[in-house]
Amino acid sequence: MPVSRHPHAPGDIVTPDRDITHAHFRPGDQVVILKGTSGSELWGDAYKVVTPSWHTPTDEDGWRLYDPAGGARTYITAHPRYLVHLSSRCPDCLIYQQALRTYLVPRLVDADADVDCGWYSLTHLNQVVHVADARSGQ
Ligand SMILES: [Zn+2]
Repeated sequence: MPVSRHPHAPGDIVTPDRDITHAHFRPGDQVVILKGTSGSELWGDAYKVVTPSWHTPTDEDGWRLYDPAGGARTYITAHPRYLVHLSSRCPDCLIYQQALRTYLVPRLVDADADVDCGWYSLTHLNQVVHVADARSGQ
């Protein structure tokens, strides 16, 4: 399925306010960074948590993630609030996921392809940075 940038993709008001600790995640966890929608579901990229790693854009503790399909970007570093446990048994991550779905899906119902909202970018140091953190960090 093609992934397109939606011309009217809404800004992310959910992730910046998310309250989650670094210790919520552990090496070996399977996580996803949610980036948009696919029909009535959220869409994102899946990773495996590897080891603690400093997140330079926020100057806070982050996690190094492993992406087996990442090529030159096999290892990236992300802030804990970007991450969601793939396991449906994690209530904290489920609450965030549901809040994001409730906010985002109705706003993109007219999209006929997977939508990348463009909230995340990658620095030259392979640090994932949310658009809200990129602004506040400069
Ligand atoms: Zn969780």
